[in-house]
Amino acid sequence: MTTRNHCLERDAQDPLAAFRSQFDLPDGVIYLDGNSLGARPKASLSRAQHVITQEWGHDLIRSWNTAGWFDLPKHLGNRLAPLIGGVDGEVVVTDTTSVNLFKALAAALQMQSCDAARRVIVTERSNFPTDIYMAEGLSKWLDRGYSIKLIDSPDELPAAIGADTAVVMLTHVNYRSGYQYDMQATSALAHAAGALILWDLAHSAGAVPVDLHANGADLAVGCTYKYLNGGPGAPAFIWVPKKHQGQFQQPLSGWWGHATPFAMAPHFAPADGIGRALCGTQPIVSLAMVECGLDVFAQTSMAAIREKSLALTDLFIELVEARCGAHPLGLVTPREHPHRGSHVSFTHPHGYAVMQALIARGVIGDYREPAIMRFGFTPLYTSYAEVWDAVEILRDILDRQDYNVDAKRDAVT
Ligand SMILES: *Cc1c(COP(=O)(O)O)cnc(C)c1O
Repeated sequence: MTTRNHCLERDAQDPLAAFRSQFDLPDGVIYLDGNSLGARPKASLSRAQHVITQEWGHDLIRSWNTAGWFDLPKHLGNRLAPLIGGVDGEVVVTDTTSVNLFKALAAALQMQSCDAARRVIVTERSNFPTDIYMAEGLSKWLDRGYSIKLIDSPDELPAAIGADTAVVMLTHVNYRSGYQYDMQATSALAHAAGALILWDLAHSAGAVPVDLHANGADLAVGCTYKYLNGGPGAPAFIWVPKKHQGQFQQPLSGWWGHATPFAMAPHFAPADGIGRALCGTQPIVSLAMVECGLDVFAQTSMAAIREKSLALTDLFIELVEARCGAHPLGLVTPREHPHRGSHVSFTHPHGYAVMQALIARGVIGDYREPAIMRFGFTPLYTSYAEVWDAVEILRDILDRQDYNVDAKRDAVT
């Protein structure tokens, strides 16, 4: 039986324990929501101050060149690439995940357009809604007979992919259940049917090891404000491997994606390489914060992060089942390691109210419909003792029914 002392011993031996000091976390909070908004790297304060007072305030417009602003999407992309199995010149940090999905999906449909029979986008009903919405918007506005096929479980995928499939668009780690797809097998399945595969890495980048090249991915997008700690609304990323860059054409053909943006030519000609995935002027202050998160990742490895992530999620599942076993909690997240991301979800009939009670007592997770309490584990700043303490607080709330079932739902939870 695990005790709090065992957890403290594991913290004492944890090779990642020292990373917590690089983050600003308030006292009295156990933060289990880094999967939704990563904690703030301490370095971001002085970086923001420098960008605002020196680069913007003093150097003014010269900073587009002297401070590397213009190259920042590519520079950050090159730094992010190793975390997802990409190489230099294949990633840009830019726009939002929703917008990057639109660009990537449009490009993939264009790459498949020579085959008129391929008009179906296959994705999952349980995908993060914006992914489905963006596919719906794109299909509607293209008005070329595209349709979207929604599967209800990963088991349905083989039967859903066929000669009519243009693109398979999946989120690698499901935002709600924490289910992780086998990227290699799934990519191979898509390719065997002649389809392209587009991966959303929103809950994967910085959370689980990803090797896009080794696993045969065609295109990918993802977030920097979740596990990568880039800050609220920080620009997202898009990955286009070199083998596809020549055919990669996207409809948001703004001047930042032009071959010669400062020639001010009247017509669009795409840049060679990953630059063609860009659209317009980037939010430099926000973009600069992304580097502070990547600086932390550069000091460790995704293998070390994954090892601790699995240990933390195993511990959480074990303790919840052992200590809260009398309560109607249902584990949603897969127990098998290869199919688990870095968060754990449990259902409870009063999930929303229980989560509000947890937050009131300093354990910050979040709630997702229907009835799902979601707990994110971020190895860079979460300790084993915090897992213990979070479960103790959960047990106490459940044992005493210390939650308000009539709690009003906030707009953002
Ligand atoms: C978080 C998340 C998004 C967020 O998209 P934004 O454009 O940043 O709002 C998109 N897709 C998935 C799968 C996500 O988990």
